[in-house]
Amino acid sequence: HPVLSLSGITKSYNSGKPNEVTVLRGIDLDVARGEVVALVAPSGAGKSTLLHIAGLLDTPDKGTVAIGGADMTGKRDAARTAVRRDDVGFIYQFHHLLPEFSALENVVLPQLANGISRQAAQTRAMELLDQVGVAQRATHRPAALSGGEQQRVAFCRALANAPKLLLADEPTGNLDPETSETVFAALMGLVRSTGLSALIATHNLELAARMDRQIRLDQGALTG
Ligand code: ADP
Ligand code: ADP
Repeated sequence: HPVLSLSGITKSYNSGKPNEVTVLRGIDLDVARGEVVALVAPSGAGKSTLLHIAGLLDTPDKGTVAIGGADMTGKRDAARTAVRRDDVGFIYQFHHLLPEFSALENVVLPQLANGISRQAAQTRAMELLDQVGVAQRATHRPAALSGGEQQRVAFCRALANAPKLLLADEPTGNLDPETSETVFAALMGLVRSTGLSALIATHNLELAARMDRQIRLDQGALTG
């Protein structure tokens, strides 16, 4: 089974009201194990909505979402939260690291919340930070890091609990082109070394072309 399977996803905001807006119109999408899919869409096309539905942060009006073969349709919040926590990693355009904690602690804390011992969590966090080239910044707080370093730490945090599926919304959207390149390479290195499946929204067509497959979201529907 695919790691992510979306079938017939429809979503409107303000349903039934004069200001109703239909954002997604019957989206079908499978992301296979180890596959990295680029989601290319103009601003306002509904990509954040699609990523939130795929990551169980929002529910569709119609259609089904399955993660790791488990259909989440109609499941209770507790079950959705458990799958989200164990199986899904999120990355955003802005890092959202905890400002009062070091880079290392930002990668350790989600593991502690998942019941991992502090020692094991620290070892894993250092390995991840090292893999993306920021191990030497481990004791620094986010404010002391460059934008590219902050984003690389955020990738480590997203992967800290070894999710099956990574959902990224413009992960390099806030960076200059040169930094984007370094940070994207670091992300792809992490993803490929773990065999993770990913759906990565980007405006950057050059980066999109380096993923396994590109899909376009246009007027609420996917095109090849
Ligand atoms: P993208 O991420 O592609 O920019 P979004 O998924 O954020 O697009 O939004 C798609 C459309 O849905 C936009 O027109 C946006 O204004 C609208 N929209 C998003 N969230 C809401 C909401 N909570 N209520 C009403 N409209 C919304
Ligand atoms: P709880 O209130 O039990 O912590 P939540 O639903 O708030 O449960 O969060 C469950 C998981 O989903 C957590 O790992 C949290 O970090 C993540 N999460 C919640 N909301 C968001 C969001 N808007 N973006 C990304 N991750 C989120």
